[in-house]
Amino acid sequence: MKKFADVLQSGDWKAEKHVPTILAPETAKVDQAIEVTVHVGSDIPHPNTTEHHIRWIKLFFHPDNDKFTYELADFQFTAHGEAVAGANAGPAHTEPKATVVVKLKSSGTLMAMSYCNIHGLWENSKRIEVQ
Ligand code: FE
Repeated sequence: MKKFADVLQSGDWKAEKHVPTILAPETAKVDQAIEVTVHVGSDIPHPNTTEHHIRWIKLFFHPDNDKFTYELADFQFTAHGEAVAGANAGPAHTEPKATVVVKLKSSGTLMAMSYCNIHGLWENSKRIEVQ
């Protein structure tokens, strides 16, 4: 059986333009409202054209000592220059960057998954300590 782990790509976000970066505090208090930002292209911009763009980023949380993973947010980036006049002639582009406010009850790992319409699935993760 083919697994997601077999097809999810990763790497250093400073060298690989597809890797989603996760911007979040290193520590937080239980139930503190914290901002988490996900972004593709922090260091090396990814193309944003009708033919080649980041379609979505999903953000998950895997608490320590928990069997399950929880979806925190699902960001769809839906404008990439499409228009009646043709590809890339449109008036709007959505950049693949988004912020959500979350409250956590335990330490764990923030996990992001992004999708490029021609280069597939990419992942990254970041630990957060909750006291
Ligand atoms: Fe790409």
